[in-house]
Amino acid sequence: MNPRSREQHHGIGMTSQRTRDRLIERLREQGISNERVLEVMRNTPRHLFVDEALAHRAYEDTALPIGHGQTISQPYIVARMTQMLLEHGTPHSVLEIGTGCGYQTLVLSQLVSQVYSIERIRALHEQAKKRLEDLKVYNVELRLTDGALGWPNRNYRFDRILMTAAASEIPRKLVEQLREGGEMILPYDSGRGQVLLRITRRGDDFETEAFEPVIFVPLLPGVEE
Ligand code: SAH
Repeated sequence: MNPRSREQHHGIGMTSQRTRDRLIERLREQGISNERVLEVMRNTPRHLFVDEALAHRAYEDTALPIGHGQTISQPYIVARMTQMLLEHGTPHSVLEIGTGCGYQTLVLSQLVSQVYSIERIRALHEQAKKRLEDLKVYNVELRLTDGALGWPNRNYRFDRILMTAAASEIPRKLVEQLREGGEMILPYDSGRGQVLLRITRRGDDFETEAFEPVIFVPLLPGVEE
């Protein structure tokens, strides 16, 4: 690293603690009250999950492009969904659909024992894998496949499933991988806009609750090489 780039790096570090604190205050004002979620988000380096050219905006409460027509979710929505996942007790295992850059995956990995995450775009999957390895995150398993089909091992059952892309049909194979009493949080596209849903497994029944409107990229089929 030449001295100039070290200085620039240092510069990002210097502003980030202050801007991170400001982001956490903003999340609090918007109703995020789970202290564990707030603390993890304060300490998670979001700037490592966006292009260097966008790193100075990493602690703004906004979605940012990550290439391949995809985005890193807005911090508020990451906090909101994570808080919902923890609302009825801390889950042991979480399956995430839509790894993207891996930021939400990293947040989850600090709150639950085991995280599984699926991405359909090879380049994003590989980049997320490298980032999480560099950060020495060992309780995450990543797969390149179509998340609507569920985790490749059909015997797995998850405490929680988090979808970070919007579906217009609830993928049957996915909800079947919820354990009894397990919950899935997802953006659901009704055709008249997206809303956040929580689906709870009760035997063979699936109880559905709707929450606020949201905006996510669409869930797409197949794998993109
Ligand atoms: N969790 C990410 C959000 C990424 S955006 C974050 O922390 O910011 C949603 C991601 O879902 C995109 O990367 C997109 O490629 C992926 N995706 C869309 N359809 C999918 C599918 N069927 N299976 C797996 N991933 C999918």
